[in-house]
Amino acid sequence: MIVKSLKEVKELFPLTEEEERAFKEVVKVYPFSSTVYYLELARKSLAVRKMLLPSLLEIDPSVQGRGEEDPLREERDFKVPLLTHRYPDRVLIITTNYCPVLCRYCMRKRNWKKGVFYITEREIERCLKYIADNPKVRDVLISGGEPLLIPAEKLERLLIGLKSIDHVEVVRIGTRLPVVWPERVLEPELLSLLEKAQKVWVNTHFNHPDEITPLSKEAVLALLKRGIPVNNQAVLLKGVNDSVGVIEKLLRELQKIKVRPYYLFHCDPVKGVMHFSTSITKGLDILRELFKRLSPLAIPYYAVDGPGGYGKVPLLPQRFKKLGNFYEFEAYDGRLFTMEDR
Ligand code: SF4
Repeated sequence: MIVKSLKEVKELFPLTEEEERAFKEVVKVYPFSSTVYYLELARKSLAVRKMLLPSLLEIDPSVQGRGEEDPLREERDFKVPLLTHRYPDRVLIITTNYCPVLCRYCMRKRNWKKGVFYITEREIERCLKYIADNPKVRDVLISGGEPLLIPAEKLERLLIGLKSIDHVEVVRIGTRLPVVWPERVLEPELLSLLEKAQKVWVNTHFNHPDEITPLSKEAVLALLKRGIPVNNQAVLLKGVNDSVGVIEKLLRELQKIKVRPYYLFHCDPVKGVMHFSTSITKGLDILRELFKRLSPLAIPYYAVDGPGGYGKVPLLPQRFKKLGNFYEFEAYDGRLFTMEDR
């Protein structure tokens, strides 16, 4: 069940006076939506509450002033409607702007005001033709909104269409469903389709260890059992997960459920989201510490997405420098050593 109104939220759990005031003001600009499952989680977790409930900071011009609606210029790069082709071997297809849970830090918040759209059959055919005509495209990212909730026959046409294009090797689906509505992932028809589509990888989106619950684990396991690899893309969010302790716990818990931490994104400078921004220095400090505590298999790429449409740049804390014909390196525990650059 989807909850959208203040009345429905208050029936499930009490809001503070400030939360109620923010709800009333902010939804005029940025709406609210949640599953009952995720609201229940917000009742128990302050971090989830921050990602879910509207905050007055979203509409405070002194905080949001430097944010842009679409800093990554996603729409400028459409080759056919809803398909972006920026990197030579990869394309992105936006299938809908519908999400059952509206995350307050969403980089596509601009689409919330447009009314719900789903990719049409004609648009699917145009995307498939574009990809079939471009043999360099080997990796297709299906995103949204929530792509797993587009009408089943459209999802099937898209996935089976991609399966039949030989040069497409990987189909990545960016979905937050395992986190916010795991019961839907467990639907047998959906799981069968994802398995049948063969090329599918799921990129999900846990930001905080509190989001890893028995039910979300079950959803992930169901995907893995059908041979669908599951990776995670988190976003570094001020006041939610911007500490070494929280990120370390998130990454360890993800590894326990066999989800590979893939990206930790720096928060994009999006209007309505600026209050979640941390400094890049803070992100690098966290990463530096993670390298001391975790094996590389548990460490995601920390990446910025270049405003203006430059694409993603992975960042690493600088742990070496060139000294004449030698490199000087810093070991995990801070000791220094050198190697000749032969
Ligand atoms: S699931 Fe993704 S697209 Fe949907 S609101 Fe959350 S961050 Fe935005």
